[in-house]
Amino acid sequence: MLADSYGRVATDLRVSLTDRCNLRCTYCMPPEGLEWLPKDEVLTDSEINRLIRIGVTMLGIEEVRFTGGEPLLRRGLPGIIAAAAALTPRPQTALTTNGIGLARIAPALAEAGLDRVNVSLDTLRPDVFEKLARRRRLDDVLDGMAEAAAAGLTPVKVNAVLMRGINDTEAPELLRYCLDHGYRLRFIEQMPLDAQHGWRRENMVTADEILERLGTAFDLEPADTADRGSAPAELFLVDGGPATVGVIGSVTRPFCGACDRVRLTADGQIRNCLFAREESDLRPLLRGGGTDTEIADRWRATVAAKLPGHGINDPSFLQPARPMSAIGG
Ligand code: SAM
Ligand code: SF4
Repeated sequence: MLADSYGRVATDLRVSLTDRCNLRCTYCMPPEGLEWLPKDEVLTDSEINRLIRIGVTMLGIEEVRFTGGEPLLRRGLPGIIAAAAALTPRPQTALTTNGIGLARIAPALAEAGLDRVNVSLDTLRPDVFEKLARRRRLDDVLDGMAEAAAAGLTPVKVNAVLMRGINDTEAPELLRYCLDHGYRLRFIEQMPLDAQHGWRRENMVTADEILERLGTAFDLEPADTADRGSAPAELFLVDGGPATVGVIGSVTRPFCGACDRVRLTADGQIRNCLFAREESDLRPLLRGGGTDTEIADRWRATVAAKLPGHGINDPSFLQPARPMSAIGG
């Protein structure tokens, strides 16, 4: 088991497959992109498969989520998914993507054993999309969501981040669109994880504000929270249900006490928290003849050292050196 000293057990592994991306969302990356990880530092497909196998068969990982950067940019993605889905016990498999290219590859991913997708969609307006993601790709994202649903990668969940003065008036229309298409929308508070260090608390659209804006167009009531478990989203029934909308108040409503996640970066670092300031490098063990047991022991020790919370609301908070795109959101 991957237990920490506060009684939490990590069962949900987030695997970043690349730090590269084909969008430049303003809350994530600067317009010019970032200095990408050197190729030889990025884990190979077989190194990733080995670590996932160790996580699932030796350390109790039950769900594997592929992310990045943009995970669809990783050529070996179907093979990596297939290797994870072939493990015993079989983990749940999921993908977080910006949706570009998803329309074409969704059937192959489903065939490989992918169970579900989360697609990021912050706006339905092409001009706002271009301002926010600095590319004109809205239609690709919408097509990707539709094809993912058609391929059975359901429920298609949609992640939206609201930015003040950019897309913060769009909450009701995003929800209407998702309800009409059978997608499950979740709003995520903007977190201090952008490479440019541009996050400001006063600019963040809070969970309270998100609910207020949705409340102008829909009746919302808290869904039964008994089964929330470690899910970060607070769920609300929309107009009496059964449809729901989620709000992930990472900053104003932290859920660290129920966290069950652990992260593997594309260059082989285990991180026990999105906001961890320390990480544990598995690459020397992987490439230096380390045994599965040695790797598992190192991994366990990293999770054991997990802090009780992210500390964003503490005056001494320091943003981690790695931006979100290099950690794996
Ligand atoms: N490129 C993929 C995508 O956009 O879905 C996967 C990686 S992205 C880092 C994962 C999720 O993190 C996306 O839903 C994105 O909107 C979210 N995200 C990125 N930067 C964020 C920030 N500063 N605060 C909150 N969410 C953020
Ligand atoms: Fe790329 Fe995802 Fe970051 Fe947007 S949020 S720049 S799509 S990694």
